[in-house]
Amino acid sequence: MHEVSLAGGILAAVEDAARKDPFARVSRLRLEAGKLAGVEVEALRFALEALAPGSLLAGAHIEIEQPDGQAWCLDCASNVPLLQRGAPCPQCGGFWLQANGGTELRILDLQVEDH
Ligand SMILES: [Zn+2]
Repeated sequence: MHEVSLAGGILAAVEDAARKDPFARVSRLRLEAGKLAGVEVEALRFALEALAPGSLLAGAHIEIEQPDGQAWCLDCASNVPLLQRGAPCPQCGGFWLQANGGTELRILDLQVEDH
């Protein structure tokens, strides 16, 4: 389950942010896990909740957005929606696609409390 290490990475990023601009705890954490990012969202949520006690994420409300995948089709020369990696272009059925949206796992927003 690589979501455990992803959750650790997110916590490390939150701790980094707290070192730069100190805060006591996170009240709300908003994440983006694109549908092409290869992240099992429920497993990620579970891993974050397991890490949270005693950390800056203790009691934080965690929201995970899942933007749809998008890819550039070299045959159509246009951006097309892509539901999953390895799927063909919905317009031309081609496989010459470069995923360019919904591929990332990242922190969108962090609401913090100072005390
Ligand atoms: Zn196409």
